[in-house]
Amino acid sequence: MKKIAILGSTGSIGTQTLDIVRDNPDLEVVGLAAGSNIELIEKQVREFKPRLVSLQSEKACEELKIRLADMDVEIIPGMEGLIAIAEMEESEIMVTAIVGMIGIRPTIAAINKGKDIALANKETLVTAGHIIMKLAAEKGVSILPVDSEHSAIFQSIHGENKDRISKLIITASGGPFRGKSREELKNVSLEDALKHPNWSMGSKITIDSSTLVNKGLEVMEAKWLFDMDLDKIQVVVHPQSIIHSMVEFVDGGIMAQLGAPDMRLPIQYALFYPDRRPMSGKRVDFYELGSITFEKPDMDTFKGLRLAMRAAKAGGSMPTVFNAANEKAVSLFLNKKIRFLEITEIIERCMDAHKIIENPDIDSILATEQETYEMISKKYM
Ligand code: NDP
Ligand code: MG
Repeated sequence: MKKIAILGSTGSIGTQTLDIVRDNPDLEVVGLAAGSNIELIEKQVREFKPRLVSLQSEKACEELKIRLADMDVEIIPGMEGLIAIAEMEESEIMVTAIVGMIGIRPTIAAINKGKDIALANKETLVTAGHIIMKLAAEKGVSILPVDSEHSAIFQSIHGENKDRISKLIITASGGPFRGKSREELKNVSLEDALKHPNWSMGSKITIDSSTLVNKGLEVMEAKWLFDMDLDKIQVVVHPQSIIHSMVEFVDGGIMAQLGAPDMRLPIQYALFYPDRRPMSGKRVDFYELGSITFEKPDMDTFKGLRLAMRAAKAGGSMPTVFNAANEKAVSLFLNKKIRFLEITEIIERCMDAHKIIENPDIDSILATEQETYEMISKKYM
């Protein structure tokens, strides 16, 4: 029996993780955390019977306690709850499927207790990769990628000598606005931005895909996960999302991982690595597919990727500013307070105003996040 805890169980990755648990009776859920979706977490607790549960607010936890009065479950609100779940004695692996920088502290807590991490939350590595990867190595903990691109790279280097990698090639669908000009992007609506061509995901990452910020976050995530220089990471637009990413080796050979766009595969691979388990679902039919295509990303129109590369090269606290500014700007866009192109304008302004802190610790990372939020709030709220 493999015991798992899931942070963000009510979200897109969280619910798909539970689909895998349903299909694999040797997985047992011991802890679940979500933000505010009481209805769904109540159902999940009744079905999976975890020992520990958390929702963001005390009020939500009180309501959940009343609803679950007939169940033997402990419920702890907020960060205290997330950390308690991360540190649970019985859990072996934690799936971090929570959205945003709130994932940092619980991830560190879980690593300190020797739990392996199935990592979906990319904001953690983007902002604190230098701390997380070092700590994981010290504690002998595996960071198993869930993001499809990183899982593809992870699958492609399985059994290979990592010193022989010459390049990581991260594929990008290009999002719903691929091929559009900045003029055409001026007035695109929230509804248009939420229509991802290939993947069904949470709203924040769907917007990040439409700005190409998501690909920028993935480049930074790959740099930490695979200990790779930025100039050896290339982004290639591949609109069909069949090749999930590739690795080029020193002899010119390229390994790629292909599959239908379905996040359950990378989640399941992380949970059972290095084993593969059977999985239902659509298979790639090459006759039906006919062809796949590739393009260079348009970084002049989609400034999100260019700004991410600038933040990654600057290093230190700059990726935190990039990430925090994006989180806030996306939230404003989701609430229809700003227009699409303002997302990257806000990120750029925050980055221009920031004085880099080299090698920031967790407190400085979180302080930088707050400062960035405040800078944006002053102007827009
Ligand atoms: P969703 O928005 O669908 O889900 C987010 C989850 O986090 C929900 O369970 C939500 O709870 C919970 N949550 C939000 N705020 C808090 C909080 N303050 N305390 C506790 N829980 C909270 O996101 P996704 O599943 O799409 O993405 C999760 C992470 O995985 C992101 O970092 C994303 O970048 C990454 N990722 C996602 C992919 C995908 O296919 N979806 C692919 C690759 C990476 P509630 O619903 O109750 O508010
Ligand atoms: Mg991805």
